[in-house]
Amino acid sequence: ESATLSQIGLAGLAVMGQNLALNIAEKGFPISVYNRTTSKVDETLDRAHREGQLPLTGHYNPKDFVLSLQKPRSVIILVKAGAPVDQTIAALSAYMEPGDTIIDGGNEWYENTERRMVDASANGLLYLGMGVSGGEDGARYGPSLMPGGSHRAYLNIHNILDKVAAQVDDGPCVTYIGEGGSGNFVKMVHNGIEYGDMQLISEAYDVLKNVGGLGNDELAEIFGEWNRGELESFLIEITSDIFKVEDHESGKGHLVDKILDKTGMKGTGKWTVQQAAELSIAAPTIAASLDSRYMSGLKEEREAASKIFSKEGLTEEINNVGGVDKKKLVDDVRQALYASKICSYAQGMNLLRAKSLEKGWGLNLGELARIWKGGCIIRAVFLDRIKQAYQRNPGLANLLVDPEFAREMVQRQAAWRRVVGLAIQKGVSVPGMSASLQYFDTYRRGRLPANLVQAQRDYFGAHTYERVDRPGAYHTEWSKLA
Ligand code: NAP
Repeated sequence: ESATLSQIGLAGLAVMGQNLALNIAEKGFPISVYNRTTSKVDETLDRAHREGQLPLTGHYNPKDFVLSLQKPRSVIILVKAGAPVDQTIAALSAYMEPGDTIIDGGNEWYENTERRMVDASANGLLYLGMGVSGGEDGARYGPSLMPGGSHRAYLNIHNILDKVAAQVDDGPCVTYIGEGGSGNFVKMVHNGIEYGDMQLISEAYDVLKNVGGLGNDELAEIFGEWNRGELESFLIEITSDIFKVEDHESGKGHLVDKILDKTGMKGTGKWTVQQAAELSIAAPTIAASLDSRYMSGLKEEREAASKIFSKEGLTEEINNVGGVDKKKLVDDVRQALYASKICSYAQGMNLLRAKSLEKGWGLNLGELARIWKGGCIIRAVFLDRIKQAYQRNPGLANLLVDPEFAREMVQRQAAWRRVVGLAIQKGVSVPGMSASLQYFDTYRRGRLPANLVQAQRDYFGAHTYERVDRPGAYHTEWSKLA
């Protein structure tokens, strides 16, 4: 073959790989592609042809694929996380040479990346673990990219990444994240925050529907309106769209009402909560979102329970409750959603900082907020404000105490308490919103009842306690004095 060599390669042509490859080609970087099942290579070639004669070449085995690349070679892998990544690396690295780079773009557990990094370096290969967010459309038209690992490898391809990533007012949605598995870790926390956002939005929907009695048309309108204000974000926008879609399957009603209330998941939310626990970081909103997914899975149990409790006089749904001022409720819920969301982001950011300190990654939280402004699922106008908060004060202990966010929390707390209070009264569960409110109320209090817990610990376990008025560790023989 006398064909010219490609600038970059991509292996794994499912949804993400296929679209990212087309995006790279469209930005003018000749790319080689490969997939284990070769029909996907043909599919991708066909799309490259149809979507504008893009500079993309297909290869049907690892050797031809690797040898079609300019040196030093850079190969992006987008296959199922876990063992498939190891298998793909084994297949490709047989033909790669020292100085070449492997870039895993999957939702990989960061420790797997760190293990592979060590293996790769034994062969002189460079390695990046790169979070990619934005789903199918993001990959095709501009994702948010979170590359971590070898800085040299990043410099080899950063001109490509800069062009391929989503573009926002202050640059491309990509930055070098840090060493090791930091890129995967940041993507993981992004997904945890995404769980939180989705849960909070679904609770807003639940309260508006089941307490306020709002229908789908009204909901579409309200979310559309919210998307023109401080809540403006991809998830609010698609939520508005969802309420507009009719059900073609049955020919009546809206599709959203026909969808089984059981949420799927692939693990990144669970990892986020596990990591928060490992690092002693409170992340109650994200944890509540994960728990809500688990409980959504108990469909049969919940249906059985709803029958028991309706017999006991507790109705399952509280539709069209009288006495609720719709307009006021809508405005309150908007404020509750916003305040709850700030708490959730504060948790995610604190988790990132704790991990960064543990691993010495030197994560720049403001810069992470910036690259999430476009391309990714949590993209939102207010991420620019988070960026600014960390620029004002990189050592900010918590987003909640940034002067601007602090003011906003105070302004919204009355509405927020009304919504959570009303939902609790009506028996509509709002685990995310109330976890956020509890986070806020715990964080803002100078004195908590933790003194009593310490006294109990010292009583039964002689764990000692500190005093508020003098230094040192104290132990008391409580039972003898009581
Ligand atoms: P996927 O469904 O996770 O994986 C399918 C791809 O993996 C196919 O190319 C498949 O090849 C390959 N594969 C599976 N087992 C393999 C093995 N043992 N050896 C070689 N190849 C193997 O694909 P995806 O949805 O495009 O996601 C790719 C990665 O991006 C995942 O880590 C995913 O979590 C992450 N991600 C996905 C999204 C999304 O919206 N889908 C968003 C962000 C990140 P064959 O065709 O030969 O089976």
